[in-house]
Amino acid sequence: MYIDPHIHLVSRTTDDYEAMQKAGIVATIEPAFWLGQPRTEVGSFKDYFSTLVGWERFRASQFGIVHYCTMGLNSKEANNIPLAEQVMELLPLYVGKEGVVAIGEIGYDDQTEAEDRFYREQLELAKEVDLPVLIHTPHRDKKKGTYRSMDVAEEHGMDPRWIIVDHNNEETVKEVLDRGYWAGFTIYPHTKMGSERMVEIVKQYGPERIIVNSAADWGISDPLAVPKTADLMRKMGIPEVHVQMVTYKNALAAFSLSGQMHEDDWLKAPPIDQTKKMGGNSVLRGGQVPRVEGPSDRVEN
Ligand SMILES: [Zn+2]
Repeated sequence: MYIDPHIHLVSRTTDDYEAMQKAGIVATIEPAFWLGQPRTEVGSFKDYFSTLVGWERFRASQFGIVHYCTMGLNSKEANNIPLAEQVMELLPLYVGKEGVVAIGEIGYDDQTEAEDRFYREQLELAKEVDLPVLIHTPHRDKKKGTYRSMDVAEEHGMDPRWIIVDHNNEETVKEVLDRGYWAGFTIYPHTKMGSERMVEIVKQYGPERIIVNSAADWGISDPLAVPKTADLMRKMGIPEVHVQMVTYKNALAAFSLSGQMHEDDWLKAPPIDQTKKMGGNSVLRGGQVPRVEGPSDRVEN
């Protein structure tokens, strides 16, 4: 069993869902993020947040995958201050919904003053509602941005054990682990941070508090990055218990701090039944044969 704790499923297809389930992914976490172009109205955030706790959760269930999400104002769109202020007013309505396992992904993009302001405000929100925090670290000035994210979290009295610092690399991992945070790693295909490098990192640092994810979205990315990396780890001689920690157990431990994520959610999930509808809508198109599992089709663990 695998968990992909960072994947933007609204951008993925039903083929992806089928392949993920086949590969052993039982649960996914979808962080609220930007959509590739800036939103211009607060209503567009509202509908997006509703999709994350509504339709997408249902859609995943139709393919045998449990869907959770994180809620937050992403750092890119924090720079539109009037809009960001409205999103901050909206967020409290969503952070307590079923399946919301963290505030995120929040943090820095260009490390502007506005990003800093809304990052801090959302750290305070996380404390108020007792949720872990998922930090998006910038792709430019990665090291500086990552250290700053942690400095500011500590300034706000946050407990590192409640924070997942994501998109790490060799340059940031030591500091993040030494300071007591969870360290997320995103496996992007055809880039520097591929599965091979992930294997080396786990060899060097061990499996404690390391979490592997795909961050698959509308860009070139791979929704099977977690199981593929696990396979490579096994091939390269990493012990099975370590593989399970970085591709399943650690994510569960970190995000279950929310009280919203339990192993039974997938171990005791109802069988797949694609005849189900949500708001009158189904994943089926005319004439398609629904997949309906009997209890005996479930894999026992
Ligand atoms: Zn993301």
